[in-house]
Amino acid sequence: MSLYRPLEGDSTLPPQADVVVIGGGIIGASTALELAERGHRVALCEKGDIGAEQSCRNWGWVRRQGRDPAELPLAIAARALWAGLAARVGFDAGYTESGILYAAANAREMANHEAWFAKARGFGLDSKLLSAAELAALFPGTGRRFTGGLFTAQDGRAEPRDATYAIAQGARKQGAALLTSCAVRGIDTTAGRLSGVVTERGLIKCGAALIAAGAWSRLFTGNLGINFKQLPVRGTVARIEHSGPAPEFAVGGTDFAVRKRRDGGYSIAVRNANIVELGLDNLLLAPDFLPALRTGWRELRLRPGLPFLRSLVQQRRWRAGDITPFERTRINSTAPYRHLPETALKNLIAAVPAFAGARLTSAWSGIIDTTPNALPVISPLPLPGLFLASGFSGHGFGIGLAAGRLAADLVTNATPFLDPTPFRFTS
Ligand SMILES: Cc1cc2nc3c(=O)[nH]c(=O)nc-3n(C[C@H](O)[C@H](O)[C@H](O)COP(=O)(O)OP(=O)(O)OC[C@H]3O[C@@H](n4cnc5c(N)ncnc54)[C@H](O)[C@@H]3O)c2cc1C
Repeated sequence: MSLYRPLEGDSTLPPQADVVVIGGGIIGASTALELAERGHRVALCEKGDIGAEQSCRNWGWVRRQGRDPAELPLAIAARALWAGLAARVGFDAGYTESGILYAAANAREMANHEAWFAKARGFGLDSKLLSAAELAALFPGTGRRFTGGLFTAQDGRAEPRDATYAIAQGARKQGAALLTSCAVRGIDTTAGRLSGVVTERGLIKCGAALIAAGAWSRLFTGNLGINFKQLPVRGTVARIEHSGPAPEFAVGGTDFAVRKRRDGGYSIAVRNANIVELGLDNLLLAPDFLPALRTGWRELRLRPGLPFLRSLVQQRRWRAGDITPFERTRINSTAPYRHLPETALKNLIAAVPAFAGARLTSAWSGIIDTTPNALPVISPLPLPGLFLASGFSGHGFGIGLAAGRLAADLVTNATPFLDPTPFRFTS
């Protein structure tokens, strides 16, 4: 079974639109849905298939727990949007408020949860700090392995395979054009303002465009002379089959993560094992990312080698008539990293022995697009008519529907439904 649900794109390119959305992941699709519902003519251009990169490769957690307070308003707004999605678009993407548990292995981890809990007070969440005994009662089968935990019953999960498909189909029902295998090469300007988008299939004239190109956004903006500070990080995920007792809620511990899937299996990962493949951009952006590397060093493993050499020969500039890197890699689907799938299962069984006997059925990896402060940029760019919604730093699945709403507000110059200040682009 493929990681994403294939969706056939429209055969004809509209010559004109009010807004062109560049990138058909969950962010681009959510923005297109909002815009189409408001009566705007939208064309969504995707270089490969809808929802085939990060948006189908993630853990599927829809989480408010642990989020940066600056991002919490988006995460809170997204909860209501997820709850109403099936009725809104006529397709169920498996959203379930089954809870998310962080299990702390020691006092230091528990102190981190307590610190977040204190910062999140006032946001009206149902998060609870758990003692070791409370955690053992909630999560039988773990014994007294954990010092305590953090639990949010109204957090949940949805199916990455289905979500972007559902949202894009909803946008199409409202009149959005969905163009697949349609890479955007660049933009057209008139009198210093965006006036069109140049795709591999021709020009679409438009008054505004949103770059929602996931991990490709830096490359796209770079060709326009805009320095969007974004770095790729590779995460590996696996699916297991397991027939014994297991929790409905998703669980994250020091070195494991597990989430029940609608197809009867579980998605698992080694938590805190994201791989940074050293490239030229790592050097160029080192001063911006060093503070994050220092505080988040447990999260990342640096890996030099072939990717560095590849980054040196990466095409970074092109003209609208050229074949671009976007057409050369329709879907970025790198293999799972070394033995991380096996390690994920080993760590899970060590933490939750009830999973002994589970078996790996598949594994994949996905490129997470990170920013220096781990907050997305949802903002106008320094070229009138051009906007960016990218850099979701591993959080964009859960907050995607709300991010799309905010992006739609900005693109159409409507009053933003929440304060966009934390997400402003700075060069
Ligand atoms: C391993 C992993 C685990 C994660 N776990 C979670 C989680 O549990 N919860 C959570 O909230 N988030 C999670 N995330 C993050 C989440 O998946 C992303 O933040 C989100 O999917 C980003 O969506 P996007 O639309 O910005 O990017 P993408 O889904 O990557 O979509 C961008 C699209 O733009 C297209 N594109 C690029 N350039 C062009 C161009 N020039 N022309 C046309 N199309 C173009 C690409 O082909 C791609 O389809 C995880 C991510 C990974 C990789």
